[in-house]
Amino acid sequence: MAINKYIPCEKTNCSCHKAVIEHDLNPYQDGITKELFTLARSKGTKYQIIKGELYREKECHFPARCAGVEHYLGAVAPKLPNLEFIVNTRDWPQVNHAWGNRKAPVFSFSKTNDYYDIMYPAWSFWEGGPAISLYPTGIGRWDKHRVSISSAADKWTWDKKEEIAFFRGSRTNEERDALILLSRSDPDLVDAKYTKNQAWKSDADTLYAPPASEVSFEEHCKYKYLFNYRGVAASFRFKHLFLCKSLVFHVGNSWLEFFYPSLRPWVHYVPISPTAKADEIKKYIEFFKENDSLAKEIADRGFQHIWDHLTDKDVKCYWRKLLKKYALLIKYDVNKDKDLIRIDIKK
Ligand code: UDP
Repeated sequence: MAINKYIPCEKTNCSCHKAVIEHDLNPYQDGITKELFTLARSKGTKYQIIKGELYREKECHFPARCAGVEHYLGAVAPKLPNLEFIVNTRDWPQVNHAWGNRKAPVFSFSKTNDYYDIMYPAWSFWEGGPAISLYPTGIGRWDKHRVSISSAADKWTWDKKEEIAFFRGSRTNEERDALILLSRSDPDLVDAKYTKNQAWKSDADTLYAPPASEVSFEEHCKYKYLFNYRGVAASFRFKHLFLCKSLVFHVGNSWLEFFYPSLRPWVHYVPISPTAKADEIKKYIEFFKENDSLAKEIADRGFQHIWDHLTDKDVKCYWRKLLKKYALLIKYDVNKDKDLIRIDIKK
């Protein structure tokens, strides 16, 4: 089994995610030239760090997302050399080598291995995540969620959890349909329903059923099995699910955030194929109902990994290490761009 070969990452200081920085910067090992930077320029928002101060171009397409990113950039800037970089705050990455795009160093929060983009910790660790009725100003404050969701897990201990697979979310991806259909045919095994998102027009967008009400992350802890799916890119849901100490079923493995590679299938979560039909999903859930202690072991290990290696400090640390390594690759002099505005972060 995977667990026999797995050596836990005991390291501190975000080193469990070090390989991701090396992997993402590898295409730029020969150096980031002015030409490469110019190619990246149109794909996102320009930032500079000059003499330890943070600067950004005036316009930001998603101000709350920029603010979420700047919370961390402001904190690490004083320790960094002069540098400039492009942050893409769109939902999807930009530079796909499988489509023949020329490489360009664009920072994006999520990608597949088909992209040259460099992953950075998503804005929603602090603010700017999707706004739903429960989180009207947008999902954020991972530091607070860590505390409130793990407290809910203490209330819903393993023996108290309902032996039901649970999912709430909108239809950002049709891959989610198989679980919704299984829930409709087998409601004692699965409770999975579509909620509305901003693009919702009619019941067709919730697979011909009225939209369900939204459920908080804390309330997810009531259930033993929690499902994660990609959306447009990786879903912000994933990291929260582990905090419930429930067993996480992760469907598909192509879409990543920076911390995904540190998590291992069968060690921290149950991997499910994105093409699995309802019957196959049902077999996995039933297997874990019959192998309850194994389910609990994986759930506890998943929780512990996220708890130990995805703290707010790790997020800051990842930004710092990423930008330090990136700065070493820059081959031209970075001069202060007069068109940028200074970003002052309130501590
Ligand atoms: N969400 C939630 N409760 C719900 C529905 C959604 O907490 O009832 C969260 C979900 O976990 C995710 C975000 O809202 O982090 C957006 O979810 P959605 O399914 O709409 O899109 P996704 O980003 O997963 O593609």
